[in-house]
Amino acid sequence: MQLAVTVIGGGIIGLWQALTLAERGHRVTLREAACESATGAASRLAGAMLAPYCEAEAAEEIVKELGLRSLQIWRAANLGVAWRGTLVVAHQRDAAELLRFQRLTEGHQLLTDTDIGTLEPVLVGRFQRGLLFPDEGHIAPRRMLATLVERIRALGGDVRFESAVAEPVWMAASAGEIVIDCRGIAARNDVTGLRGVRGEMAVVTVQGMRLTRPVRLLHPRFPIYVVPWGEDTFMIGATSIESEHARPVSLKSAIELLASAYALHPAFADARIVELSAGIRPAFADNIPKILAKGRRLIVNGTYRHGFLLAPVLAQAVAVHLETGAPLPAALTCAS
Ligand SMILES: Cc1cc2nc3c(=O)[nH]c(=O)nc-3n(C[C@H](O)[C@H](O)[C@H](O)COP(=O)(O)OP(=O)(O)OC[C@H]3O[C@@H](n4cnc5c(N)ncnc54)[C@H](O)[C@@H]3O)c2cc1C
Repeated sequence: MQLAVTVIGGGIIGLWQALTLAERGHRVTLREAACESATGAASRLAGAMLAPYCEAEAAEEIVKELGLRSLQIWRAANLGVAWRGTLVVAHQRDAAELLRFQRLTEGHQLLTDTDIGTLEPVLVGRFQRGLLFPDEGHIAPRRMLATLVERIRALGGDVRFESAVAEPVWMAASAGEIVIDCRGIAARNDVTGLRGVRGEMAVVTVQGMRLTRPVRLLHPRFPIYVVPWGEDTFMIGATSIESEHARPVSLKSAIELLASAYALHPAFADARIVELSAGIRPAFADNIPKILAKGRRLIVNGTYRHGFLLAPVLAQAVAVHLETGAPLPAALTCAS
């Protein structure tokens, strides 16, 4: 049976939801408040690493389990993910951090300084030990959001920008219409327990600098990662602050991010800063996403640090639930 579904929100969660439903033959309308070039309030600022193994250092087991399933969906979708793994390094004085990371994670290979230089020649001689997580991927998020919009439209989905949905519309979905609320942190007043975790990031360009995979630099106080976003362009992330304020990046955070990138490689001293931004990650108290059913409205939210990683598996769970009535994964359904 063909379903008629309205998805609200054109971040990574809403776009994957719309794509999954359109691929399964359903009639999908996606409504996004922002214009096309600004869609995805948090999503456009993400790393966006598909890193279930690395994230297991601090995330719940369920995030890793769902993340591993999601990786398979990302791979099958053939959307241009760079599958080059993640490199994790620490300076010699922070060697204990690398040991701790190694102990808390799996799916890695231990690297010598020679291995590191072979993988990323610009890092030759800089680190004595490292870890490679070969099965992880990364994405340039803004390009990916645009690619998803194209795919949905190619499948007949109706994607509308500058089309904010006012509250009464989703509260009173007409008979037969299903509404999936993917508004991220904008839903905080409707979803009990949803909080914001501020993430600040920088985008820099460094001529001639070449990294081919995300590099995480461990540090007891200022761990950072650098993600290649395109030729000479790198995203440096990210702070994690319990705050919902979207005000500009603080001087302290900017110094920490940029100084840590310089500690990764001195070539970052000559970087041009093209962007300093702060996004709000939507999260629940346990930092596990939720799929909540409220009548004919489903809410998919709270993806915290893992929206890109988990979007496909959440979208699939919702689609199967709508089509068959199959229960949603128990770990994701705590009532709001
Ligand atoms: C700095 C940073 C780095 C991150 N790095 C990673 C990473 O490496 N890997 C990873 O997996 N995750 C990462 N994340 C987390 C990830 O970005 C989030 O989990 C994810 O973006 C949340 O997606 P979303 O679609 O729920 O929300 P959003 O991206 O915020 O999208 C919500 C959309 O809803 C729209 N909207 C709101 N209200 C309405 C309305 N009334 N009508 C219509 N539209 C509306 C908004 O305009 C917005 O476009 C990172 C986040 C940050 C901030």
